[in-house]
Amino acid sequence: MTQVIRIIGRSGSGKTTLLCEVVRFLADAGLRIAVFKHAHHRVDLDRKGKDSFRFAEAGAAFVTVVSPEKVAAFEAVTSGEPTLEELQARVPAGIVLILTVGFHAGEPPYFLLLGAETEPDERAHHGELLGVIGRRTGSGTAAMFDRADAAGVARAILAHVGRRAAATPDERLNALLREAKAYHGHLCPGQLLGVRLAVLGCRAVGIEEPRTSKKLIVWVETDRCGTDAVQTVTGCKLGKRSLKFVDNGKLAATFLNTETGEAVRVLARADSREKAAAAYPNLERHAAQMEAYRLLPDEALFATEPVQVTLGELDRPGKPQIRVTCTACGEEVSDGRHVQGDDGPLCRSCAGGAYYVALGSSGDVKSEARW
Ligand SMILES: [Zn+2]
Ligand SMILES: [Zn+2]
Repeated sequence: MTQVIRIIGRSGSGKTTLLCEVVRFLADAGLRIAVFKHAHHRVDLDRKGKDSFRFAEAGAAFVTVVSPEKVAAFEAVTSGEPTLEELQARVPAGIVLILTVGFHAGEPPYFLLLGAETEPDERAHHGELLGVIGRRTGSGTAAMFDRADAAGVARAILAHVGRRAAATPDERLNALLREAKAYHGHLCPGQLLGVRLAVLGCRAVGIEEPRTSKKLIVWVETDRCGTDAVQTVTGCKLGKRSLKFVDNGKLAATFLNTETGEAVRVLARADSREKAAAAYPNLERHAAQMEAYRLLPDEALFATEPVQVTLGELDRPGKPQIRVTCTACGEEVSDGRHVQGDDGPLCRSCAGGAYYVALGSSGDVKSEARW
């Protein structure tokens, strides 16, 4: 759900300058943001003589001007100024955060921006005080920010948004990360991305409980950190044929719901690293990524696309349907992974695709082993 954070301060306290910096910072970090500016005077964007003004004056309650670059909407207010909640309902989809300037009423959390000499009563506002900007003393337990520290304010916003966005999912994320760490051996940026990528992918194909689901097949495209996290979240395993490895060298995975046939490929965006560095310029690279990959929204970190993927008859979980013996080496080959030679089936190694060079026999293990 879209969250709201208010910036409260007297006019002339430099709100707009600071807020522009904060917005730039958060947008660079991948957040889609709306800004609500409260004007205490008449809004004159819609100037006399403009077509939009004339339509409104003629009695249209809602006038929209549409161009390829921008959409402007003018709404006549008839029953009093709309509340923050009412305005919230009007923001386009995909907006994660609304920053408001000049809205004193309401309950959303807020930053208090102090002017050089003003002494406003900080208790006069409702809602959670997230920080005080512009003064270093006398504000109790609230976090303090220098007026020039737009990055600090933006990070505090990011942390707040991250905590809120995931009031319950956050606990789930932490639990999954603990498991990912146990399985992978350490907690790394790849575990964070992999866990989130997998949660996103499963949800995208309508599988809420992947580990107990029998209808999920996942193709992973890298044999690096993130893939272990995908296994942790999904419970998909190579040995159960629910996990397929495609050696593409990409932190990406495709999630197939075998019941519905729906498949979605999720890719970790390459610019996530830059976004992390931009969001946490004071942290070293690894630490910045650990923070950012936890807090940035899915849209900032991942690209998702619906795809069509074919699960071959011989690639499905279950007992092998075909077993043959290679006519050259005598080794058994399951699941149709052989090729047809002139004198009968050949394993891929004997057909010329060996990844190893045999150095001589150390005992006859051919076909004797039964498993
Ligand atoms: Zn790792
Ligand atoms: Zn062979």
